[in-house]
Amino acid sequence: MSADVIALIDRLAKTRSLTLEEWTAAVSGFSPAAAEYAAQIALSERRKVYGNDVYIRGLIEISNICKNDCLYCGIRHSNRKCERYRLQKAEILACCKEGYALGFRTFVLQGGEDPYYTDDVLCDIISEIKATFSDCAVTLGMGERSFESYKRLFDAGADRYLLRHETADEAHYRKLHPADMSFKARMECLDFLRDIGYQVGCGMMVGSPYQTEKHLARDLKFIETFSPDMCGIGPFIPHADTPFRDFPAGSAALTCYLLSLIRIQKPNILLPSTTALGTVDPNGREKGLLAGANVVMPNLSPAGVRGKYLLYDNKICTGDEAAECVRCMARRVENVGFQIVQNRGDIKNTKEQN
Ligand code: SAH
Repeated sequence: MSADVIALIDRLAKTRSLTLEEWTAAVSGFSPAAAEYAAQIALSERRKVYGNDVYIRGLIEISNICKNDCLYCGIRHSNRKCERYRLQKAEILACCKEGYALGFRTFVLQGGEDPYYTDDVLCDIISEIKATFSDCAVTLGMGERSFESYKRLFDAGADRYLLRHETADEAHYRKLHPADMSFKARMECLDFLRDIGYQVGCGMMVGSPYQTEKHLARDLKFIETFSPDMCGIGPFIPHADTPFRDFPAGSAALTCYLLSLIRIQKPNILLPSTTALGTVDPNGREKGLLAGANVVMPNLSPAGVRGKYLLYDNKICTGDEAAECVRCMARRVENVGFQIVQNRGDIKNTKEQN
């Protein structure tokens, strides 16, 4: 392992900031030894803020109907083979009820950009969840909407919003999305969310088609400057019914290295160890936790629709009931020395603000 990358990681731990050139060198410097070094620092940083606690989020995949045609995504509009579904309010509330009994205090409503979920429809669902489970947080991952729409959902009680930026490089963004989607619109949405007062999450896929080390460095620099409360990163995984079917999946080891760098850059960030990481490597989620992640998102979607929310091939946990998913996750978390805690799992403020 080169002395340069060690020096960069040490500097990152001290100043919480690197130049774009330095981020590029840090990404290029990836090796198993560099990853091990970064992981040790990341773990000690996360222990200072979160101890051994792991936060859980109950993921409810509310619809796989989507008007967008992202080239990487299995539920893209033009995938005729995708069997579509949409959950009604009563079904979503039933998932929350089951999740609450299992100890969840955050519900994540994620889905395609399905025009059925107007502001009225979503506000009604959110306010009912908040009224019924008043000690819970609601996170939304429903894609791009207007400022006014985000504001209404926030006023109805939504606490957090996940909107991965996907890539911080505009030319790369164009290679991953059709012409009617824009990098500027995506970035503008992130600013709206932040301005309204949400806890905001961005993030990217690792190893997406045409991605270079320079692109990843830009992602890291963007994360540093935007300073999100949450950051979702997972490997790209091809889906057979998309234009990217023949591209290779991203690497679990590189994903873990980037998780460590993000943790070191922002010690209090909420960092999930994702399902995609657990799909490319059977122990991926454990490895993510050992690299500095502190959040897991077991699936709470009704068993009947799980096998239909397929963003990529071979997705794990599509056959289990929610209760089994939670038990399995608790075991995995404990096996690597952490424990699941039963609370909302908000970001902890540290004196050292980024
Ligand atoms: N419509 C919502 C939710 C999208 S799905 C939104 O736009 O935010 C959540 C995330 O899954 C996406 O942001 C993307 O980063 C990831 N994803 C989609 N297809 C993927 C694939 N083939 N491999 C890995 N991750 C994928």
